[in-house]
Amino acid sequence: MTDAGGIVGEFFDLKADTDCDILAMQVGDFYEFFDADAETVADELDLKVSQKSSHGSSYPMAGVPINDLTPYLTALVERGYRVAVADQHETEDGHARDITRVVTPGTLLERTDAEAQYLAAVVDSGNGYGLAFADITTGRFHVASVDGTDADDRLLTELYRFRPVEVLPGPDLRTDEQLLDRLRDRTDATFTLHTTEAFAPGRARHRVREQFGKETADSVGIDDDGAIQAAGAILSYVEETGAGVLASMTRLQTHGSGEHVELDATTQRNLELTETMQGERSGSLLATIDHTETSAGRRLLGEWLQRPHRSVDELTRRQSAVEALAEAAIARERLQELLDGSADLERLASRTASGSADGRDLRAGAQTLALLPELRELVTGTDRLAASSLPEILDRPDQDRVAALHDEIDSALVEDPPGTISEGGLIKKGYDKQLDEIIEGHEEALAWIERLDDREKQKYGITHLSVDRNRTDGYYIQVGNSETEKVPDSYEQIKSLKNSERYTIPELEEREREILRLEEQRHELERELFEHIRERVAAHAELLQSVGRVLAETDALASLATHAVRNDWTRPTLREDRTLDIEAGRHPVVEQTTEFVPNDLRLDPERQFLIVTGPNMSGKSTYMRQAALITLLTQVGSFVPARSAEIGLVDGIYTRVGALDELAQGRSTFMVEMQELSNILHSATEDSLVILDEVGRGTATYDGISIAWAATEYLHNTVQSKTLFATHYHELTSLADHLDRVANVHVAADESDGEVTFLRTVRKGPTDRSYGIHVADLAGVPEPVVERSRDVLDRLREEKAIEARGGSGEPVQTVFDLGSGEFKTQSAGSEDSTANPATADGGPETQKRAVDGKQESIDESQREILESITELDINETPPVELLAEVQNWQEKLQNR
Ligand code: ADP
Ligand code: MG
Repeated sequence: MTDAGGIVGEFFDLKADTDCDILAMQVGDFYEFFDADAETVADELDLKVSQKSSHGSSYPMAGVPINDLTPYLTALVERGYRVAVADQHETEDGHARDITRVVTPGTLLERTDAEAQYLAAVVDSGNGYGLAFADITTGRFHVASVDGTDADDRLLTELYRFRPVEVLPGPDLRTDEQLLDRLRDRTDATFTLHTTEAFAPGRARHRVREQFGKETADSVGIDDDGAIQAAGAILSYVEETGAGVLASMTRLQTHGSGEHVELDATTQRNLELTETMQGERSGSLLATIDHTETSAGRRLLGEWLQRPHRSVDELTRRQSAVEALAEAAIARERLQELLDGSADLERLASRTASGSADGRDLRAGAQTLALLPELRELVTGTDRLAASSLPEILDRPDQDRVAALHDEIDSALVEDPPGTISEGGLIKKGYDKQLDEIIEGHEEALAWIERLDDREKQKYGITHLSVDRNRTDGYYIQVGNSETEKVPDSYEQIKSLKNSERYTIPELEEREREILRLEEQRHELERELFEHIRERVAAHAELLQSVGRVLAETDALASLATHAVRNDWTRPTLREDRTLDIEAGRHPVVEQTTEFVPNDLRLDPERQFLIVTGPNMSGKSTYMRQAALITLLTQVGSFVPARSAEIGLVDGIYTRVGALDELAQGRSTFMVEMQELSNILHSATEDSLVILDEVGRGTATYDGISIAWAATEYLHNTVQSKTLFATHYHELTSLADHLDRVANVHVAADESDGEVTFLRTVRKGPTDRSYGIHVADLAGVPEPVVERSRDVLDRLREEKAIEARGGSGEPVQTVFDLGSGEFKTQSAGSEDSTANPATADGGPETQKRAVDGKQESIDESQREILESITELDINETPPVELLAEVQNWQEKLQNR
């Protein structure tokens, strides 16, 4: 196909040089796609395909005007394509084209929404993984390393936290199909194989030093090479794709250093922090509490939720600001008004570095920089805010440098610059002497032309004369047909129209040439000046980012305050012990849509483990998640939904929902449930909060109880974390008698008239019954089944025994011994009469026989015997009479 020649041939040649899915090649004023690429683009984006003939063949072709490329590019990349862009430039013998950029999901610069867009690299470091994450739209750059026996899980957790859109797996990882599958499963990211050399340790370290400075690179506290390799690979990738934003990556951040609360991937999902289990934004915690005005503020708030803090100092600082902002309502609203419509400075920093920012971007940047002093004035002028931590936060960027950068942009750019940088009109008068001269000459020439029609009208007495300009004719003098006889000889006719004639004169032609020349000079000079200013702004990327962060933080804090006020939230007391004391707490999301019944929760070093029982749908899961979310919000610096709360800061929050509940979401298997339980048992510490919701439910009952039982003991005795465990295994409630720091609570329900009313109130002690059968009944399960379940339940309650029925109908009976916590299983006799519900509803005596595993029905005479045994008072009966009595029974039984 490369013999296509011409434009198409050039396209194929360029395409062969890249590993991209699609090539967009500039041809004059268009970017064109050819052949299969044209078909793909047309299919994806609804473009029209035409045919291009070249050297005897015909090729599909689709194109977009050069100024419209961005939205198409964005749409293609969001659909997962890698797109190469080839630009055209002039050469001595015509045009040449080169690939100038490769746009991939992780290197797309044209983001306008609030979402972060992380590019990740993952390297196998032998005993774990090195990771790096970069968001080129904001210049954020993080490195991390994970190791230990649960390194795989922690790797997934980090990936879940950053949600990269593109992942560069290191060379060693590419052959690890199993891990790659798990990674693919957990992210929607595109996987890209970047050159192996980029991951080489020496080269990577060199790059990282070059980018962030030797000091920083060596002192980030990352002790294994993996993270540096990953960071180096990202830098090389970003450079190679030509995004041109390296200059905006100024700060290398590390984490995993113990500053933040551990939230594993499962927990982030279970708690529905940024999206619901169904993958929707609305209904998530973030969507519920988000009242930010800016996309940077929203990004930061999301980040806070996903990475809660552990430092009392930092949290106190945030609380102080939130409290002050909550109280000073008018100032808060004013502050939010100021923030509304401000530019995203972090993104601007990247756009200036890549050279894609235009005059409007810089103008918006300057306006946003000017907000900082305004905000400071507002804050210092409001006593309540002045006394909070806000001044300290706003003072972080160097105010003089901010003012200087603002003035630099402000003094150069006009108030309302055009959306292009190549047609002038950008630079203010007085900024550049040479430009001023050009503009002056230009304006003079224009003014001369402006005056020309009056002059000519008077000179020749023509009324219908006008001077104008269009693309084809340039400047011309137009005279109405009725007056053409007055036109002098010096007029040169250039065109005849229906009602008029067009002329030109040498003077006008000369001015026109002058104007064109000056315009061209002006455009070029303005563009040069603008590019120079943009470079100088790019050199201050770090300052732009730091102001951006301060504004984002202010926005996020004001948002927390707004939510606190609107929902009557309260400032929690931070504690450094293991208390969790919530009075009248609510679930932050459920309270939005439901008449919520508040509940108390108390954990302390003596009462560290709660077993939560209660009917299905009574509110167990909600109660426990509420505890986790209140703890999490506290460690974000937020107020919390409660009358009062004292929260011991935690080092990690771990939640696990039983596979059965998860299966309903189509997500999980029992294997995963157990892997995650294992992860919790490994990772949680005495400072963690652990939430287990129906864990063990995904397997057979006795397996399930046994696992739940053992996990409880382990968490209580060894891990000693604060734990809430909801279970429908009532057997577990007896653990409170055996383990010191375990207590029972239950969510109460009222059962009268055969109806269950959920009270949503959490009370002391275990539930005494399961309401599942009522629910089954209400749901219309057939009567015999409901009856039979009542019967089975009664047996369980009295005998702590469960009979399991196999397909053959043969019951196997298992006895649960509370004392030892063990199960005893026996095969039952084959005469299975209790299988028949008609005979199974006898009195208590009947059921007691089940304890020895015999399942025979009994008749009236047998009942009499049993009764007499029960009633016989051995101490008052002489031995002879006893013997006689026994003989009597024997005969009766034998005669049956
Ligand atoms: P369980 O885990 O016990 O089966 P859930 O926690 O899933 O029950 O709650 C069942 C329903 O009850 C949910 O729809 C929830 O919104 C509602 N709910 C739970 N707790 C409360 C409460 N305290 N006040 C009002 N509604 C609640
Ligand atoms: Mg539940």
